[in-house]
Amino acid sequence: MVATDYEAVPAVAGDAETSSHGTLVMKFGGTSVADTERLKAVAKRIVAAREEGERVVAVLSAMGDSTDDLVALAYEMSPRPKPRELDMLISVGERISCALAAMAIHDLGHEAISLTGSQAGIVTDTTHGKAKIVDVRARRIHEALDAGRIVLVAGFQGVSTDYDITTLGRGGSDTTAVALAAALGAAVCEIYTDVDGVFTADPRVMPEARKLHAVSYEEMLEMAASGAKVLQLRSVEFARNHGVMLHVRSSFNPAAGTWVIEEDERMLEKAMISGVTHTLEETLYWVEEVSASRLFASLADSSVNVDTIVQTGETEIVFSAPSDDASAVTEALDGLGVPWRARDDLGKVSLIGAGMKSHPGVAARMFAVLDDESIEPKIVTTSPIKIACHIPREDVERAVRALHHAFELHRPDAERPHAS
Ligand code: ADP
Ligand code: ASP
Ligand code: MG
Repeated sequence: MVATDYEAVPAVAGDAETSSHGTLVMKFGGTSVADTERLKAVAKRIVAAREEGERVVAVLSAMGDSTDDLVALAYEMSPRPKPRELDMLISVGERISCALAAMAIHDLGHEAISLTGSQAGIVTDTTHGKAKIVDVRARRIHEALDAGRIVLVAGFQGVSTDYDITTLGRGGSDTTAVALAAALGAAVCEIYTDVDGVFTADPRVMPEARKLHAVSYEEMLEMAASGAKVLQLRSVEFARNHGVMLHVRSSFNPAAGTWVIEEDERMLEKAMISGVTHTLEETLYWVEEVSASRLFASLADSSVNVDTIVQTGETEIVFSAPSDDASAVTEALDGLGVPWRARDDLGKVSLIGAGMKSHPGVAARMFAVLDDESIEPKIVTTSPIKIACHIPREDVERAVRALHHAFELHRPDAERPHAS
């Protein structure tokens, strides 16, 4: 049994009746707002869009690594910070960025208003630390836009149906931006980041990686789910389900980036593989003497994001989960009182491409490449457009390089340019 399921995204009622075109949602990540100079540059870019006539909503992340610093501060205070208070604390970083950007925009001669996620109408469920957006009540944003203001929204956070402040999981500002784009009826959501777009592999591991002109929603879902952290997985689900086109591009230069859109001919024929992704941040678990239904019900109750699931025999189930969820998994498995063991010396390398559906032999070639490198896959999982292998963690970067080369992703065609 192999499964990779993406969760359904709720309909965002938003204020759809008042939605208008000409609205642009721009999201800026942590490195893009790392200091006051960069925030001033971001303010200029936002103002430039406004001066082109757009109604602009900008979603900002916390400055640089400040979310990490806030998390560390919490653990300095307590070994097990209460999730509600942790969210109160770590949601602060995004508010700082927005308030500072609003000041810079005023100095550039434009009206701007900064809003917390709660003020912006981002309503979530009650799961602290990885809350899901259940509604966007965008009336206040519409009013500010109608008054000619630029709206700055603190990413990564919302208010729960119990009126508590929640956060959306690491990288969650992407999801704030896409949910707002969907609720406001914006056709495009621009994701400004510290690389030029989505690449055929993490450009920090693979300097020869190519920037893709276009990837399909399905490919981007698989890439995000398997380690390409340039977009949070849930933001891609939102974009696909609401027909929002994503444009992932650099904060530091004006070049066009990568479009995440419906599948087209380029993705099927021109370059059937979109990229090689990897992750080092997963733990694998082997569990015995438990039914799948009991096991996964218990993990779901503990809000564990299970990824790979393999039923290897009558009694053994193997699954993976993010390393961040390790204590929740331990609690759930101990609660079941069944034998289990974990391994966190494995990473995962995945090959993704819409063209795999119609081109056989990709798996064979992938295994041959790994074999040549004397890397033995421990667990293999597939979807129609992905093949993923769990391999020893120390071999992961070597595997990425070998696969990138073997599938010729360093060549210009891998970029999927439009036929001209
Ligand atoms: P931001 O702070 O702007 O949200 P992130 O750090 O969340 O940025 O995501 C951008 C990073 O994602 C890049 O710096 C890059 O190292 C990493 N990354 C991993 N895989 C890819 C990929 N395939 N394409 C682009 N970036 C990738
Ligand atoms: N600041 C949050 C994080 O570091 C959210 C984000 O940047 O998207 O995860
Ligand atoms: Mg991010």
